[in-house]
Amino acid sequence: MEYRFVKDMKDIRGFKNVLNIDFSPKKTCTYDCVNCVAGRTNFLIGERKEFHPAEDIFDEIKSYIDDKGAPDYIMLTGSGEPTLYAGFGRLVTSIKGEFKDVKAWVYTNFSLLHRDEVRKEAALCDMVWGNLNTVIEEEFMQMYRPHVSVTLKNVMEGIRKFKAEYKGNFAMDTRFLKGINDSEKNVSGLREFVTSVNPGKYDILDAKYGGQPLSEDFVRMVKEKFAGVSFTIEFHI
Ligand code: SF4
Repeated sequence: MEYRFVKDMKDIRGFKNVLNIDFSPKKTCTYDCVNCVAGRTNFLIGERKEFHPAEDIFDEIKSYIDDKGAPDYIMLTGSGEPTLYAGFGRLVTSIKGEFKDVKAWVYTNFSLLHRDEVRKEAALCDMVWGNLNTVIEEEFMQMYRPHVSVTLKNVMEGIRKFKAEYKGNFAMDTRFLKGINDSEKNVSGLREFVTSVNPGKYDILDAKYGGQPLSEDFVRMVKEKFAGVSFTIEFHI
C-alpha cells in the first residue's frame, strides 16, 4: 500500500521505533530557515490550515499499524511546522484514544506556542520537543527568515508559558551555524533563557545541514557557558 502521510519507522535521538507522520504540503512553515534539510519554504504562512481531513491521516496510521504493528512513538513533524495544521488536536486525540501504548511526539519550531489553542493541542502529546537557535533578534531574522507574523518575543513567551503548563516530557535543542548564531551574546542569552525554562533535556547541535564547521574555540566556549546547568544537556558539537 502506498502511504501519503505515514513515512518511515526509525530511531530518532536515542528513541526506538518512531513512526514519522508528515501532513504538511511540501514545504509549509512559519520559517524559511537557512539550514532547512527540506529546502526552501514553498508556503511561508502564519495562520493554521486544514491541509487534509484529520480522519484521512488517522485512517492511514491505523491501517499501517494494523498491517505492521504499533510503534513506540508517533512523531508528528515532516515537511514544515506541524502545529500549522488546524486538525492537529483532533488527530492527536484520535491517536491517543485508539493506541493507548503509543506515545505521541511533536517536533516543533515553537513559533505558534504563544497561542492558547496551540499550547492546548500540543499539550495532548506525551513529548514536545522543539528548536530554538537564538535569543538575539538579528540572528533570529537571519537564520529563520520568519513569516511576518512571527516574532522572537512571542516565540520565547510561548515556550515559557507552555513549559509552565505542560506535564509531559519537554525537550529543546539548539543548532549553531558558524557566522550566524555563534555569537557569545547568543550563547550567554540561551544559557539564561533555557535555564529559566528548565527543560527535561537540552541538546546542542552543530550545523549538520549547510554551514561551516564550528571552531574549536567556539565549542569550548559553549561547553564552558553551559557547565553546571541544572537540566540534562547533551553536546553533539
Ligand atoms: S522550522 Fe524546521 S521545517 Fe521550518 S524551515 Fe525551519 S528547519 Fe525547515
